[in-house]
Amino acid sequence: MNPSWPVVVVGAGVAGSFMAARLAHAGVGVLLVEKSLFPRPKVCGACLSGRALAVLDQSGIPAMAGLPKKLGMIPLDRFRLGTTAGEATVALGAGGALSRIAFDAALVQEARRSGATVWEGTEAVAVEDGDGFQRLRLQAPDGSRDVEARLVVIADGLGGKLSSRLLPGSVARDSRIGAGCVLGPDHAGSYAPGTIHMACGDGGYLGLVRQEDGSLDLAMAADRPAILAAGGPGPLAEQWLESCRWPVPFGLGRAAWRGTPPLTRRRVAGVPGIVAVGDAAGYLEPFTGEGMGWALEGAESLSRIILSEMSRGFPGAAHVRWAREHARVSRRRHAACRIMVGALRIRGLPALAVRLLRWFPGAAWPVTWLLDRQSVPRRLP
Ligand SMILES: Cc1cc2nc3c(=O)[nH]c(=O)nc-3n(C[C@H](O)[C@H](O)[C@H](O)COP(=O)(O)OP(=O)(O)OC[C@H]3O[C@@H](n4cnc5c(N)ncnc54)[C@H](O)[C@@H]3O)c2cc1C
Repeated sequence: MNPSWPVVVVGAGVAGSFMAARLAHAGVGVLLVEKSLFPRPKVCGACLSGRALAVLDQSGIPAMAGLPKKLGMIPLDRFRLGTTAGEATVALGAGGALSRIAFDAALVQEARRSGATVWEGTEAVAVEDGDGFQRLRLQAPDGSRDVEARLVVIADGLGGKLSSRLLPGSVARDSRIGAGCVLGPDHAGSYAPGTIHMACGDGGYLGLVRQEDGSLDLAMAADRPAILAAGGPGPLAEQWLESCRWPVPFGLGRAAWRGTPPLTRRRVAGVPGIVAVGDAAGYLEPFTGEGMGWALEGAESLSRIILSEMSRGFPGAAHVRWAREHARVSRRRHAACRIMVGALRIRGLPALAVRLLRWFPGAAWPVTWLLDRQSVPRRLP
């Protein structure tokens, strides 16, 4: 007999760990498997939106409320946009900067504390349909083993092989790719804490933010040809900062950059016995830095669906309800993001935006509203 759980969650990023914590806290048996060992790095702008913080605060898990603050999150009160034509700064109100090293490790810890079984250093390599259950093949350094689940929640992120194999989807042809690195406190230069510094250049943009330990997080979304032409993400970041007349942090060219697969993608979020959440269920370019908020919000909605299906022959229609809800929310996000990201690609438009913002700072409301709003949808999907 293989060990069996009602729910197995694959991937302990923001979505997977929150999901496991939420279900375990409600009394559901959950196994969370993660291929890395914590703490582990992740390419990210490290900015938590007001909405992301609100989901944690309202999760019903006491330790989740205010967790980023307890970890030393730096409140973000400014968004500084840099272009070749100068810069503009607008006020923010609700979000914060927190390293993924600290945040993700703490979320896994909360999943454990809530009662989930967590296996780090364990990769899910295959899922097979059994008779009313799913059989997962897990690979760990000491060998492979099989476990069974009534429902598999895949939260394996943007480059997840399992989600791309098991769930139909597509990647946008003109999608940008992501890259990021972290520079130690000695190399953070003059980039002030509490501000999102966003440098726009030819072929993409670069966000810089000071983290709780004084280090500087750099994350970019760029056209692949621009990265190739510059000779890598480091030189491209230098070019963009110089074109904005912003200081180039010492050691940037030699920093260890990590890349991501193409960013913008759509996916069907549920098939019988399997659901996907977070980046595994689809993603959009990160200009407004909302990926973690979307991942947390998605995990919250999906856990509510799972808990309501528990009372009637689990997993029941969980995958159908989640796929429908996810498609509805994604359609709305795609429409809003397509306008923002499309506008940023128009040559000269970021420079025009800076001129406009100098005269009318209120014109930044779409960005500040997206980053600051704190309401969490309460409707049961
Ligand atoms: C350049 C860039 C900048 C960004 N900036 C921001 C920002 O400022 N603010 C923001 O909110 N969002 C930002 N995002 C988005 C954010 O990083 C993601 O949306 C978020 O991390 C999604 O969380 P997730 O849990 O879905 O995936 P991830 O955090 O990627 O976690 C997936 C986990 O699954 C594990 N895994 C993968 N495959 C397996 C397997 N087979 N078995 C076991 N484990 C597996 C991985 O090791 C990983 O730990 C940015 C993204 C990029 C690329």
